[in-house]
Amino acid sequence: MDPSAGVRHPAEPWRIKSVEPIRPTSADERRGALAAAGYNVGLLPAELVYIDLYTDSGTGAMSDRQWAAVMLGDESYSGSRSFYRLEAAVREYYGYEHVIPAHQGRAAENILSRCLIRPGHHIPGNMYFTTTREHQELNGGTFHDIIVDEAHDPEADLPFKGNVDLTKLERLIDKVGAGQIPYVSLAATVNMAGGQPISLANLAEVRELTRRHGIPVILDAARTVENAWFIKQREPGWAERTVSEILRETCALTDGATMSAKKDSFANIGGWLAVRDSHLAEQARNLVVVYEGLHTYGGMAGRDLAAVAQGIEESVREDSIRTRVQQVAYLAERIAEAGVPIVRPVGGHAVFLDAAAFLPGVPREQFPAQTLTCALYLDAGIRATERGAVSAGRDPVTGENRYPRLELVRLTIPRRAYTQSHMDFVADSVIRLYAQREDLRSGLEFTYEPETLRFFQSRFQPLSASLRTGPQDPPDAIGPT
Ligand SMILES: *Cc1c(COP(=O)(O)O)cnc(C)c1O
Repeated sequence: MDPSAGVRHPAEPWRIKSVEPIRPTSADERRGALAAAGYNVGLLPAELVYIDLYTDSGTGAMSDRQWAAVMLGDESYSGSRSFYRLEAAVREYYGYEHVIPAHQGRAAENILSRCLIRPGHHIPGNMYFTTTREHQELNGGTFHDIIVDEAHDPEADLPFKGNVDLTKLERLIDKVGAGQIPYVSLAATVNMAGGQPISLANLAEVRELTRRHGIPVILDAARTVENAWFIKQREPGWAERTVSEILRETCALTDGATMSAKKDSFANIGGWLAVRDSHLAEQARNLVVVYEGLHTYGGMAGRDLAAVAQGIEESVREDSIRTRVQQVAYLAERIAEAGVPIVRPVGGHAVFLDAAAFLPGVPREQFPAQTLTCALYLDAGIRATERGAVSAGRDPVTGENRYPRLELVRLTIPRRAYTQSHMDFVADSVIRLYAQREDLRSGLEFTYEPETLRFFQSRFQPLSASLRTGPQDPPDAIGPT
């Protein structure tokens, strides 16, 4: 079942036309930089990062055709030609009638949440996403996780760990009443579960249940092309269909979508909200003017609208999406072969290290995943992301830390940006750290903790000297010299 088994690094369906120099750092430089950044790799200057796997959001390489589209962008304040191009691309590939640009995914979430959520509402979703849940809570809603239980188990090797548990959804509807559920919030693929897909069969069942209760379904479309690729590989009956057809089919089962074009669509910035209901579209257009800009640019320059439109067309090319997913699988296989615990099956955009299993000596209250991101940076200048208790934040009611079952470190692969030798370099560092894991027996404590989305700005201090000195014998000059 696992498509990554025995995977080889694919030959890319592009060649490199423009390069950006990156610089290896010394172990001393990294120690100083990490201390100055409060042991939060998110606060490091990017110049001091060698391989940046912090996110795949907006960090991909645009194609020559996207850059050409940038030059052709129409900067008219109203009715820009580039808007109509974007609108046509979303209608064609995603199939929604009303398209409202927003400067990125969370901006679309803000508009949507303000339109639909009132205090006391309940929003079920297949696992939370940080910004999505934040906007739901800011508008007085309560998020409910209705993903299948196996999604919380890093070792459950199932093809569709992003699926909804229909019993959980039905129970919630019975408990709070359909009238208190403004919509079901579905992600494809599920980022926080390790980039796990949802099946079309499951989505159809959710559609049927919600239709009976008159509840809309809103899709988080950031990585729906990757989801479509997994459906083609894994779901019976879909192998012969194109990724583009599967994408349309997925969206057809939903009433609208919020989109971060910084993911599947290869743009450095951009997003949109799209819906079928004309009344909701009108409401959203009225709000987008307040928070983003006029409804035909929504906080984006005309050139960015054009780059997103071009990126959408490129994203559904099968050679492109295959290379993307297989590069991730290649890195995962190299790491897993050495016995390093990772989330199974491997997702579409990242390899997730199981930090709780990687560093069993570090207690959950000392943030093993955050600790591992620090160790990775100290070892070789690689920047990864914490996806565990720090990202999960505190319960808004009790104020207690939330300890999700998954305590993960995400190695997120930017699209079209790094080569096989970069992947090998990352694998070597992770394997080296794993061999030295006994040396790390304590983690971190907060020295500063913001109230919302704390993982971005928080600062820490190490509870023992091991993180200050870094791993034993770190390579002095790293990377190809
Ligand atoms: C990135 C992302 C968002 C938010 O989009 P931004 O463009 O970063 O604001 C929402 N949902 C998912 C699943 C994402 O990956």
